[in-house]
Amino acid sequence: MDQLISAVDNPLLQSWDTPFGAPPFDRIRPEHFAPAFDAALAERRAEIAAIVADPAAPRFDNTIVALERAGALLRRVSGAFFHLAGAETNDEIERIERDIAPALSRERNAILLDDALFARVDALYRARETLGLDAEASRTVERWRVAFSRAGAGLDADKKARLAAIGERLASLGALFGQNVLADEKAFALVLDGPDDLAGLPESFVAAAAQAAASRGLAGKHVVTLSRSSYEPFMQFSARRDLREKMFRAFVARGAGGGAHDNAAIMRETIVLRAERARLLGFSSFAAFRLADTMAKTPDAALALMRRVWTPARAQAMREAEALQATIAAEGGNFELKAWDWRYYAEKRRKALYDVDQSEVRPYLPLEGMIAAAFDVAHRLFGVSFVARDDVRLPNADARAWTALDPDGAPIALFIGDYFARDSKHSGAWMSALRDQQKLDGRVLPIVVNVMSFARGGASEPCLLSLDEAHTLFHEFGHALHGMLSDVTYPLLSGTNVARDFVELPSQLFEHWLERPETLRRFARHYRSAEPMPDALIERLAAAQRFNQGFATTEFLAAALFDMELHLVADPGAIDVAEFERRTLAEIGMPSAVATRHSAPHFQHVFSGDGYSAGYYSYLWSEALDADAFEAFEEAGDDFDPALAGRLKRFVYAAGNTRQPDEAYRHFRGADPSPDALLRKRGLTTAA
Ligand SMILES: [Zn+2]
Repeated sequence: MDQLISAVDNPLLQSWDTPFGAPPFDRIRPEHFAPAFDAALAERRAEIAAIVADPAAPRFDNTIVALERAGALLRRVSGAFFHLAGAETNDEIERIERDIAPALSRERNAILLDDALFARVDALYRARETLGLDAEASRTVERWRVAFSRAGAGLDADKKARLAAIGERLASLGALFGQNVLADEKAFALVLDGPDDLAGLPESFVAAAAQAAASRGLAGKHVVTLSRSSYEPFMQFSARRDLREKMFRAFVARGAGGGAHDNAAIMRETIVLRAERARLLGFSSFAAFRLADTMAKTPDAALALMRRVWTPARAQAMREAEALQATIAAEGGNFELKAWDWRYYAEKRRKALYDVDQSEVRPYLPLEGMIAAAFDVAHRLFGVSFVARDDVRLPNADARAWTALDPDGAPIALFIGDYFARDSKHSGAWMSALRDQQKLDGRVLPIVVNVMSFARGGASEPCLLSLDEAHTLFHEFGHALHGMLSDVTYPLLSGTNVARDFVELPSQLFEHWLERPETLRRFARHYRSAEPMPDALIERLAAAQRFNQGFATTEFLAAALFDMELHLVADPGAIDVAEFERRTLAEIGMPSAVATRHSAPHFQHVFSGDGYSAGYYSYLWSEALDADAFEAFEEAGDDFDPALAGRLKRFVYAAGNTRQPDEAYRHFRGADPSPDALLRKRGLTTAA
């Protein structure tokens, strides 16, 4: 059937005469994608073949610029497709996605492993100082060279074949690892029977547990599962110490225990293959390979930050443990605080100290007020303003569009916000782009999307956010600004296409402006009375932020330090990963009542695919950056200091990947980031 849709009838293959040239979603149907992807991939193959076949010696324009131009149709089709795959999917889109995802990665690899093409890029890279290139063009050559060499370009055929085999095996090991964890999660359910078992649990949790029981054919009972969204609230609220212990033991046993779903052999093989891949690519360890293309650059730099934070975090966790032990004693308990007690007693203390209840906060955080707040902060920092428009044909009626304007009133981007959860949308929140900014052949303006999964308000009620959800909105809007303010020439360097441990700076930093008392007083207004959020509530929210940070930091760092140390082993041989983890935790003096956030046999960030392997630290790295960056504004005595905001825009939000991230940061801040700001933000500096 696909072949029957000719290019003439396929809107994906026509030029788009729409506002901003946005995809005409009202005319695009799922069956248009397969032929469009076929045509787009064929077009890119031809473009690449023409570069390789060019008899002229490699020059910047006939090689790098030609590479940058190649794939324009593919970018257009992909932009529309992956927006639908995330935010407006269905069985047909999912089926296409299963086919197209591996095809895209295969085609990309074929380009990066093309010897003749690499020879041209490499020749330009070696001669880059002599080509008379400006800084951005020179950076583009370097980034292409990095992409090729990290894929294995330039290696002999045997090594390339071995890399390909390793890649495939690692992909299956990653999938198996995740399936084992899921199987163990599914195999366990704690059935609560009668009111005694429900002691302490909030109403909403009980309702969800009843639903979970009903779906298992256990009507009238309640079921708690090992998914984090069920496990954590249970551990936080259940007054039944015996049941908490049971849950804890099941939670940490996922992927372990020697049974059919034990991940020990998978972890060992994964580590061995990753180390081999790194050796083939010329690195001393997998961690060295992973970190080489990040802001941290080396495992040592990442470890130094983690160790700097570990010592005060551990001391703070020990003090928190003492306070929790005192709470136990005050209640007449005669037992030692254990890992399954922490969340429960911490919640009691939190409530006693700060008494923040989300139902008290939500009425002050209507969605519209928070969108207005985010726009206002962007305006005051960067001079951007937003004008709503209703002529953009979006795939779902919930989605809204705005034109982003620069201080002179000229359009710089189209912004699309799609805020409500629905069945056709993946859960969670993200930023994506239907089109990246670039100006290789005239100025191309970005089309940037924020997708959220907020619950709609009730009948004739607005959507009201929790404080966490308002943070999510600011976070994703920070990413969106990184895409919208982008001002680069070459597509490869555009917007959010930066190192993994740098990309969260624009998003996490933007969150700091949400909880400024002034922002809350102006925009956090009660949805009925329009009264501003009371100062007392603002103060309680601020104070509650630093609570339990010793625990939160140590449980995170234990996992992050283990991840880095494990991937530093140059020749893992017959490594016993679980034993290695025990040794690592003993060496750092892990407090006995704190469990690592992810124990190895179910550490999916690290073993279900490559995602955060030797990279779990990057959450902390980015937080060190955003804490230090916001302190710059505090030091200036003005949260919107124009000179600082100007540098922030120029060197971070607008700069894409035109500079090394550490260099970009120094241009903004005038110094390297100091981890002390992070310690202050988390309240880890002073001895209590
Ligand atoms: Zn993010």
